[in-house]
Amino acid sequence: MTHIAANSMLRLRLLALSMIGFLVIRGIADAGMFERLQWERLKATHDAVIALNSQRQPVKLTTDWQDYRVLVHVHSSLSHDSRGTLDEIVAAAKATGVRALLFTEHPGPNFDYFTDGHRGLVDDVLLIPGAETPGLLIFPKHQLDPNTPTPQALADATKKDGGLVFLSHLEERMDWNIKGLDGTEIYNTHADIKDEVWLREIWRTPVAMANLLAGLKHYPQETFAALQDYPADYLRRYDELCATQRLTGIAANDSHHNQVYRARIDDQEQFRLEDNLGKRLATANLESFAWLRPLIGSNKPSEPLFEIDLDPYDRSFRHVSTHLWVSSLSEENIREALHAGRAYVAFDWMADPTGFVFIAEREGKRWMMGEEVPGAKQVHIRAGTPLPVQFRLLRNGREIARSEGREFDQEIDQPGQFRIEAWLTLAGEPRPWILSNPIYVRER
Ligand SMILES: [Zn+2]
Repeated sequence: MTHIAANSMLRLRLLALSMIGFLVIRGIADAGMFERLQWERLKATHDAVIALNSQRQPVKLTTDWQDYRVLVHVHSSLSHDSRGTLDEIVAAAKATGVRALLFTEHPGPNFDYFTDGHRGLVDDVLLIPGAETPGLLIFPKHQLDPNTPTPQALADATKKDGGLVFLSHLEERMDWNIKGLDGTEIYNTHADIKDEVWLREIWRTPVAMANLLAGLKHYPQETFAALQDYPADYLRRYDELCATQRLTGIAANDSHHNQVYRARIDDQEQFRLEDNLGKRLATANLESFAWLRPLIGSNKPSEPLFEIDLDPYDRSFRHVSTHLWVSSLSEENIREALHAGRAYVAFDWMADPTGFVFIAEREGKRWMMGEEVPGAKQVHIRAGTPLPVQFRLLRNGREIARSEGREFDQEIDQPGQFRIEAWLTLAGEPRPWILSNPIYVRER
């Protein structure tokens, strides 16, 4: 192939991609993501990540707990919308320093998510089976009756079994009220991409499309993270719910590895775009799209013309996680920390947050994240991070203090639920890095 032919082939491929780009990611919204996909910006973000990771230092403020990175809300091929194999998933966990995976399969008629689910230690990664049902994530300790009539009944059955129940996909039902919860998602990757409305129109702007493709090729993690916004709605609801109950805030990776798009020419000589489950997303008649012809070249009907893979497991795993404070790796310990709220959410793609501490202190006595402090007088709220950050302390969902550095210490004199956020500045933009669970300070 001559250089010119290769060049025009590339241009045609870009055109074809522009045409179908709106199907690639469903989900506008803020210009944030569009800006973040600019080549210079991606590069600057990538350089910032490298610089940050070289500045990490052990946190001076310490606890007796180990900090373990775990993922909640992961789908495998048991779910109808994923083809992820256990080998692929465990390998991704190993590659990203994930110690435990809490699976959330969509229940189906051909398997039981618990008895057939992934469980135990595989290659040093702890697997815990569970399910995603409308509005909920459940992790029972034993097989449950699949014919449970309502979400509340399912939550009750899970709790009776000693299991864990979390609210999921808050964006779909902000007024959802379920009793007996252990916690709720405070970030969900899939919900975060849904609001990127401009992406639906990306096919109108080949430049944006080209940015996306070039970004995925050279800076895949930063490109994936361009979708990340501060989860304001989730956190508003979380703060509201925490006013009356203690709930553990977790991150939902919602990993499926199903945002893969392939274009090919089918048996009917039609241009066909499909996802990695083989589902047809669009077809175009070659007669009406004559410019597609040269794309076919020597491709056999079965051979893809091109493929875009947005969400391999390791990329989705690296993006965000839930860190837990446990004494050692066991299912019992993971469950206990998830119930107790010794947890924080971190966007690990920016930097490893391991060692982050958030506690309350009075006269040498300490309380951890998730705990209740009796009495609001002379309580110090303290935090420490492995990097200099901007700390934002919130009381009952309202920001009450802001400071910069690796350490935070503020005396408070009012009761309420206190949580802290740590923000980093990447390529000139402040971005949330760590979201803690609350410490609940009560009137004596
Ligand atoms: Zn899901």
